[in-house]
Amino acid sequence: MTIEASNSGLTATAEARILELLRRQKAGWRAQINPALEIRLDRLARLDSMLTIWQDRFASAISQDFGHRPAIVTELTDVVPVRAAIRHARRHLKEWMRARRVALGWTGKPASAIVMRQPLGVVGIVAPWNYPLNLMLSPLAGALAAGNRAILKPSELTPAFAEALDAAVREFFAEDEVAVVTGGPEVATAFTAAPFDHLIFTGSTAVGRKVAEAAAKNLTPVTLELGGKSPAILDSSADFGQAVPRLIWGKLLNSGQTCVAPDYALVPREKVADFVATVKAEVARQYPGLPDNPDYTSIISPRHFERLVGLVEEARAGGAEIIDCGGARDVERRLFSPVLVIGAGDETALMREEIFGPILPVVPYDTLDEALDYINTRDRPLALYWFGTDMAHRDRVLSGTIAGGVTVNDTILHLSQDDLPFGGVGASGYGSYHGEAGFLALSKEKPVLKQSKWSGVKLLYPPYGGLAKGMLKLLGRMG
Ligand code: NAD
Repeated sequence: MTIEASNSGLTATAEARILELLRRQKAGWRAQINPALEIRLDRLARLDSMLTIWQDRFASAISQDFGHRPAIVTELTDVVPVRAAIRHARRHLKEWMRARRVALGWTGKPASAIVMRQPLGVVGIVAPWNYPLNLMLSPLAGALAAGNRAILKPSELTPAFAEALDAAVREFFAEDEVAVVTGGPEVATAFTAAPFDHLIFTGSTAVGRKVAEAAAKNLTPVTLELGGKSPAILDSSADFGQAVPRLIWGKLLNSGQTCVAPDYALVPREKVADFVATVKAEVARQYPGLPDNPDYTSIISPRHFERLVGLVEEARAGGAEIIDCGGARDVERRLFSPVLVIGAGDETALMREEIFGPILPVVPYDTLDEALDYINTRDRPLALYWFGTDMAHRDRVLSGTIAGGVTVNDTILHLSQDDLPFGGVGASGYGSYHGEAGFLALSKEKPVLKQSKWSGVKLLYPPYGGLAKGMLKLLGRMG
């Protein structure tokens, strides 16, 4: 059998399994269309227990997949946020589920109305490799809170984690509640072509387009959590002593393999030298002795490592200045020491593509308008960061740009709060989740009008005579 034939055989098996799981979950959903609060709380409690009991095994599986990823990074970025999301949902669920009474205008009276919040059914969740646990289980917490069932598809680049997740889910959930499907892009393609009631996809913009196309065939609504180039603006009023440590923390967390990592820094031209010196000192402070530093994360695969090398080399060949901020790269262990790049051309891949690694291009600017123009002539970013003390400048940036989310005077943190909706805009995605936003994204808000026995609508019934015409005139006047 040729490899291609055996691959397509595998895909056919995976497709059959996906459709069978979907069929069973939909049957489960039909048997329990609107699960009571206690049932949802029990599912969230089981998810909480699963996380606690499996967290060490998840952390070592993720480290194995990366080559090296410090357990504390996994705890900080994967485990803690998911636990917070589950507990936030458990605390607020009763209030989220409540039907909302809606006051009607005079044309609706004396009827009354409510908006019910109901589950959509079966949700498919596709996650990337960079925060494999968080980006799978945070959406799952929202899906279960909203009363849905879910099938999960982790990334093929985190196979050890995917295996651990599959075993953990089997231990804590019935297959018709939550199930895991593993495999590469072919399986992912079959997965996103299945008629789910909603898909949450987290990944690259390029694959997000394919997912939106596949989902459109079934009219499956999609939440697309994508990436892109997120700018950090260092204002002329910024204190680098405060701003740079916060910027570097967000850039080098997980070695820059973070969807909301600051991709590049816009720096006032006359302050570039000061910025470079502060960054170099800060990298040495946060990560001394690179690349031999146990807190530093490996790049996920040789292919991704080579891609980063290529980005730097193309910029260097084009005349950009490359400033190494750590020791030599360790190819064997895929440790890519941080690099600043100054003067890279707009046409380079470094300045066009999401970097997703510890390379920070510096873009000098002369006026704030020029910095805003730089951002607004490019794809809408997933995140935007502004550092400074001049509140008028801050407000011009906030009202003069569109981005998925913003942290002022820090990085990353807007996504750590379950009270804030998280999602992109334009090329960085659409829809949002986290907290109540995630609950609503996976619920149908169903309006229900309850007619009164005193309804006046019969005044508009045919045959249309003077009464109906008079009523219409009145309606037109009163709006
Ligand atoms: P990716 O798009 O390559 O893969 C993501 C998932 O899509 C994987 O599970 C993969 O199996 C699946 N997939 C691959 N081909 C597919 C296809 N044709 N149809 C359907 N699914 C397919 O992304 P990645 O490299 O794993 O992750 C990095 C990207 O994810 C970056 O762009 C990053 O910014 C983005 N990201 C976004 C967020 C966010 O919350 N917005 C979070 C993390 C990462």
